[in-house]
Amino acid sequence: MLVLCPDTEPTLLVPVLERPDAEAAEGAGSLSLIDWEDGTDPYQVAGPLLPQDGEFAISDSAWAMHLLGLQRVLPKSSYRSVTETLPMMRAVKDDNELMRLAAAGAAADSTYGEIVQRRFAGRLETEVAADLADLLREFGHEQVDFTVVGSGPNGANPHHEAGDRTIVPGDAVVLDFGGLRYGYGSDTTRTVCVGEPTSEIREVHEIVRLAQQAGVEAVRPGVSCQEIDRAARRVITDAGYGEQFIHRTGHGIGVTTHEPPYMVEGEEQPLVPGMCFSVEPGIYLAGRFGVRIEDIVTVTADGARRLNNTDHGLRVVE
Ligand code: ZN
Ligand code: ZN
Repeated sequence: MLVLCPDTEPTLLVPVLERPDAEAAEGAGSLSLIDWEDGTDPYQVAGPLLPQDGEFAISDSAWAMHLLGLQRVLPKSSYRSVTETLPMMRAVKDDNELMRLAAAGAAADSTYGEIVQRRFAGRLETEVAADLADLLREFGHEQVDFTVVGSGPNGANPHHEAGDRTIVPGDAVVLDFGGLRYGYGSDTTRTVCVGEPTSEIREVHEIVRLAQQAGVEAVRPGVSCQEIDRAARRVITDAGYGEQFIHRTGHGIGVTTHEPPYMVEGEEQPLVPGMCFSVEPGIYLAGRFGVRIEDIVTVTADGARRLNNTDHGLRVVE
């Protein structure tokens, strides 16, 4: 547990056996370290470090056991979500964070460059998903969070992950993969076609590509998040597929692959240089196929800069 209070030094509370690793970690010199022994109550150690009636921000994914432990030793304390309390603290990235996000994006690009050389027809979605996970690790990810392979009708379900369907010639296949490299996320989607695409697959792919481009081109400081969603959605709606674009256009990314801000109608948060998020419109034709294209971008003074950069054309695989 890391304790940050305005009037005291930052303090890291670790189990005794983790102390050597904590001391060796980057930046440890600027922290006080306090340890607790296995079998003792760590919350009894944490309690005195904190104001008894404090109001604390706690990270969204902190374990319930930690929150319950703190509430037990500090019955007068109260808690709020750090993301809601300090939304901009994590949303706007500094240069070091941008470098890590770009490195994660580059690894995802290399993964895509490699997967399109491999065989799809006759293999299970789960086999292609396993290849994607291996490639992300090979290209430097320390953690793989998702490897979606949605072939044919499965691609029309944006929540499909990968199943035991055998991929066949003629399938459009949605590939959505990402994880963490140097602690920061990648999240890329491309839709490929197994063998020659039909004119319908080509047309739907082109509409999604143009929608994705429109979303990226709408990025400027001061524009609201919902404007990014509107820009992408307009292209798809004008082409007659508005009803088949059934999710928000994007989400923030950083130390997790999905976090605020969200590119969705109703989100009026203005874009700020250094924010990083996905632009990922899609069209989903129930029972038939789906197409989604996703890149991560960062906001700069003059617009969007893509943090991954692979080709957006419809790739034909074997
Ligand atoms: Zn994705
Ligand atoms: Zn995404």
